[in-house]
Amino acid sequence: MTDATQKNRSKGAVRQARFKVRMEESGYRKVSVWVHQGSESIGYEAGFSGGALLPVPGEVIDHLSYCSGWLRGAGDRVYVVTCTACGVVIGEGVARDYLDLLSGAPFDVVCDECESSDRL
Ligand SMILES: [Zn+2]
Repeated sequence: MTDATQKNRSKGAVRQARFKVRMEESGYRKVSVWVHQGSESIGYEAGFSGGALLPVPGEVIDHLSYCSGWLRGAGDRVYVVTCTACGVVIGEGVARDYLDLLSGAPFDVVCDECESSDRL
């Protein structure tokens, strides 16, 4: 291992340690989770097709895997982005960037025209 590689790894380790502290201070704890692929896939399809999160279908073996898949699928949906002030279509994106996936409530996005006017 070169000195530069060792130095970069050390910087990475320091960043990871700082990130861990920030996350723990924010109330998170790190765990690893086994995901049941079949359940996750059923959840993904339900979320991606706009289906409801609940009730969890009877064929699902693991509910956590299903919910994880649902969130991933719902987040991958194409979302038409509109200005929350005037309603004009701004463009498209993935839903996870523009919606609270569980409530369906859009995040505030404002078009350039509204941003520069006193409409807000
Ligand atoms: Zn607008």
